[in-house]
Amino acid sequence: MKRTETRAVQIGSLQLGHQNRVIIQSMCNTRTSDTAATISQILQLEKMGCEMVRLAIIDEDDAKAISEIKQQVHIPLVADIHYDYRIAVLAAENGIDKIRINPGNIGAKENVEAVVSICKEKHIPIRIGINSGSLEKDIHERDGKPTAAGMIESAQRHVKILTDLNFHDICLSFKSSDPNLCIEAYRLAAETFPYPLHLGVTEAGTVMTSAVKSTYALGTLLQEGIGDTIRVSVNGDPCKEIPIVKSILHCAGLLKRVPNLVACPTCGRTQFDIGPVVDEIEQFLQGISADITVAIMGCAVNGPGEAKHADIAIAGGRNEGLLIKKGNIMEKLPQDQMVSRLKTEIIKMAEAQKNQ
Ligand code: SF4
Repeated sequence: MKRTETRAVQIGSLQLGHQNRVIIQSMCNTRTSDTAATISQILQLEKMGCEMVRLAIIDEDDAKAISEIKQQVHIPLVADIHYDYRIAVLAAENGIDKIRINPGNIGAKENVEAVVSICKEKHIPIRIGINSGSLEKDIHERDGKPTAAGMIESAQRHVKILTDLNFHDICLSFKSSDPNLCIEAYRLAAETFPYPLHLGVTEAGTVMTSAVKSTYALGTLLQEGIGDTIRVSVNGDPCKEIPIVKSILHCAGLLKRVPNLVACPTCGRTQFDIGPVVDEIEQFLQGISADITVAIMGCAVNGPGEAKHADIAIAGGRNEGLLIKKGNIMEKLPQDQMVSRLKTEIIKMAEAQKNQ
């Protein structure tokens, strides 16, 4: 896939844009000034594979907490700030790696100059986040509804404020809860701007609706070579977002070492309670970094045949099941040992890949 060329922007230790890999990001749902909770959540996100994390910075306490948080985590931090330029300056003074703020929303020119000045001095990029639900009044009234062209026009206004001050370390996002509008806006943005694009569908909902909308919209864009960083928004615990992002990137061929879980749909031949086993193995695979296809099949009659393309599989029987490796039946196992044996084999295969 040929990826759209964008300007390289440095965010802490990560380089975003140009032809760098697509960065996985998320956002904490803790109060940032609750540093213990925030640090703990960031460390969990890191473990899942998150590479950059955004924090809501709503007051001085949040901004001041950044320096303590930074000392105990390992990935770049992004401050999400609405309207208050002083909070943005304070976040920059406390070591933030990137700021998400719309310069057109922070008032007088001096306010923007203050933010730009410290961002230049400390090499902090700014993300301008265009949201279809909060376009400028004149654009909304003219178009009658959020449109991709209106979102681009809004971004152009904010971008001009920064480029007029000779500031170019910019990222852009064009979010909507309507995945088709997202696709249209990001396509236009990729033609219009040289800056890296942060992909996301906003207010995407539960794990199920978010996974569907994000796979549809962001998968389409990634296939077209559009997007430099990606967030899937899920209601609740942000750790739920990361496996979805990793799966989307893996399907698009942009991320390696992501396990692939295959489970038979079940039918009248199913011989054991397969659902909880699939859930347990899915959860287990979230901690595995390997290109490995794992299959869980509901019967020992058709299961082995249907699992023949998997690296490792189990096919459950009434009291015992089969362990199948690369299409070959390795052994018969008592029902209650199938899951633990499968996990052991997965770990072995993952270790073997690590050492390759
Ligand atoms: Fe049915 Fe067995 Fe196929 Fe599962 S593997 S769908 S139980 S035939």
